[in-house]
Amino acid sequence: MIYFDNSATTFVSDGVKAKINELMDEQVSANPGALHKLGNKAIEVYEGIRKETAGLLGAKPEEIFFTSCATESANTAIKGYMSRNKRAGNAVISTRTEHKATLECLEYLSKLGFAVRYVKVGSDGKPLMESLEEELAKGGVALACFTLVNNETGSILPFESIAKTIKVKSPSTVIYLDCVQALGKMPVNLSSLGADMASFSGHKIHSIKGNGVLYVRKDVRIDPLIVGGGQQDGMRSGTQSAVLAGAFLEALKEVSTGIEEGRAKVAEINEYLRKELTARDAIILSPDDALPYVLNVSFKGFESETMLHCLEIYDIYVSTVSACSAKTKKVSYVLLESGVDRKIAANAVRLSFSRENTMEEAKEFIKRVDEIYDQFLI
Ligand code: PLP
Repeated sequence: MIYFDNSATTFVSDGVKAKINELMDEQVSANPGALHKLGNKAIEVYEGIRKETAGLLGAKPEEIFFTSCATESANTAIKGYMSRNKRAGNAVISTRTEHKATLECLEYLSKLGFAVRYVKVGSDGKPLMESLEEELAKGGVALACFTLVNNETGSILPFESIAKTIKVKSPSTVIYLDCVQALGKMPVNLSSLGADMASFSGHKIHSIKGNGVLYVRKDVRIDPLIVGGGQQDGMRSGTQSAVLAGAFLEALKEVSTGIEEGRAKVAEINEYLRKELTARDAIILSPDDALPYVLNVSFKGFESETMLHCLEIYDIYVSTVSACSAKTKKVSYVLLESGVDRKIAANAVRLSFSRENTMEEAKEFIKRVDEIYDQFLI
């Protein structure tokens, strides 16, 4: 099997599986809110996990909240900030190439009467600075939402200059940053990054599904999305799970080492595929300076889904548009927004890698693409 669909989800690492088993221990299974000694043990372990997770992300423990996924983190940050800070302004800015986790929150806010404005992006998927400045100049921007690495193309946000522009032109604007596809693939240090809120997802870094992280800088106030027993400082009610939080931490520890080596290995695979696929008349849609973990490519003569299923015959797994919207059979809105021709976008396939992928797999992939062209192209 060749699994080139790591941006959709990753396989759970052996270390994470072992950690989950370890944390199933009865000492940690008690309710962390219980007053007895098993409860005390559980909260001690849980808070230890929170502290270590915060340390690895460059945050303070009280700035880190465990959620069920990055979608929940995005909902909490975006809706929670606008709900709590009505006097900060009525406008939110973002781009139309964000993940649906962000776009649907913005849609929700716009139905509530907030002004949602979109910064234009260039052909490389990056926000255009003039457009960003124009939107900021209109005033009243309470929140700016961006994504560090685009999940469909791997386009890397020039975040430093964006954050700088926002801080100069609209100092009170708070920034939410989706860091889901960046974590473990490039350095992410929240203390120096310049984001006020950020989201992360466990299942994209070889943890199990069901765990995410929300970062909210200490002096940023937001309303919780989930209310109830007041767990996690009232930010996210619901009995805390040391197993899920511990699975996230274990995965984070694993991907936090060897980031440069991992990137170099994947870059070699990416470069090889770019060269070989271009030689076969395929069109590379990921920008040249994209994070090498994602390679979006349009195959001549094959609609995205057809190519996906042809590859599947050979036990090779890729995506069409992002997995969350794949079933709606739409052409990628990310590619269309970046100015890609609809016919080219309709044939786009996303290959996404992990450090576990090998050059041998890349070579096998090309061999199979040749066979698919020989057999199926009329
Ligand atoms: N943001 C980005 C960039 C993603 O790629 C994804 C998942 O595809 C999400 C957010 C949502 O993550 P989760 O599945 O943890 O809700």
